[in-house]
Amino acid sequence: MLKRIEQIVNRLEPQLIEQRRDFHKYAESGWTEFRTASLIARKLHDLGYEVKLGQEVVRDADRMGVPDEAVLERYYQRALEQGGDPEFLPALRGGFTGVVGILRCGEGPVIGMRFDIDAVDMLESPAPDHRPVKEGFASVNPDAMHSCGHDGHATIGLGVATTLAEVKDELRGTIKLVFQPAEEGVRGAKAIVGSGILDDVQYMLASHLGSGTPTGIVAGGRGSFLATSKFDALITGAPAHAGGKPEGGHNAMLAAATAVLNLYAIPRHSQGATRINVGRLNAGTGRNVIPPSAHLAIETRGLTSELEQHMYNYAVRILENAAAMHGCTVKLKAMGGAKSGGSDLELAERVRQVAQQISDFPNVNPGLAGGGGSEDYTYMMARVQQNGGQATFISVGADINGAGHHTAEFDFDEHALRGAVKLFVATAIDLMQA
Ligand SMILES: [Zn+2]
Repeated sequence: MLKRIEQIVNRLEPQLIEQRRDFHKYAESGWTEFRTASLIARKLHDLGYEVKLGQEVVRDADRMGVPDEAVLERYYQRALEQGGDPEFLPALRGGFTGVVGILRCGEGPVIGMRFDIDAVDMLESPAPDHRPVKEGFASVNPDAMHSCGHDGHATIGLGVATTLAEVKDELRGTIKLVFQPAEEGVRGAKAIVGSGILDDVQYMLASHLGSGTPTGIVAGGRGSFLATSKFDALITGAPAHAGGKPEGGHNAMLAAATAVLNLYAIPRHSQGATRINVGRLNAGTGRNVIPPSAHLAIETRGLTSELEQHMYNYAVRILENAAAMHGCTVKLKAMGGAKSGGSDLELAERVRQVAQQISDFPNVNPGLAGGGGSEDYTYMMARVQQNGGQATFISVGADINGAGHHTAEFDFDEHALRGAVKLFVATAIDLMQA
């Protein structure tokens, strides 16, 4: 069986590379993946999958960090112009850019797989020696670049869909392929979970292609992710003439500056690692005006959700009091979030054993280390684990030029797509035979 899978996927490789380059060229960032999601829906439909999309799989109330309506509409129109599928686009309108493909093959386990599909808000390197430029697939959308490899993840998902459809007669159970919007900024997974689509899933898999790790290295499960909250604080004061009547204003910039210094002064915690960052501060209107408003973009993190919550609550208290000190008010807006979480050892070990039999992976790593990152896949892991199921997050090496994630020179080794597709398919079949 594994041999047959390897043959199918090896044959598929040129298509995978072509697909990845298409997604890369028309990069779309979180909640605006209209073209990408519509083409995924088309492909799943044509392969015979039951397709659920839009508000069927994205719960509006759980979406975070959604761009405003004018932005969503502008990118919707762009998707129409750039070859989005007109049959599936309307269901995605308004930023409901999730798609799930379901393959039902009788009695057996329900297996979910998550593939994130969004790009990063940034400009891709125009350097002539940047491979996507040289080979003609650099992003044509100046405000979005696939600099985290999610173009590869979406492609892997479609490769898995194609391969599973081809061996359908051998399968037992149900496969749910989840194409998730807005992973960047950890904004999308909660809304997918909120739709209930994962409530019957017993095994949940996801992976990340990694630069910095050569192709051929794979780890069956990553140990831990930091919980995080992303939020904006809007401090409102009152303007006044800076020379004529400074006492008449309420200085929002001063409140914000007080807050920033004190946010970084939150004491350490005995129970584990915590983080805080103020990534952006905009305040004021003009040189001779008491600044009437300030906008801060903040994130907190923690090794556990409890540690993260401690940081968040502390930060809120500082913001409220810093605002009050200067006669201002503060409003908070949630922009994203993820739980802490980790892979189930048993499932990670199973993935590792499957990987060892795949020719693409001469180097199978036990994995299970943690790190400083966050992933909103943890919402999916938590839902499946709460229901008695198991989840894991697989790391797939795909280094090509050493450029880090979220840099303008990012690229990955497309030969890693093949191994990842095989691993998802072979693991699913292994779980079905249990
Ligand atoms: Zn990523």
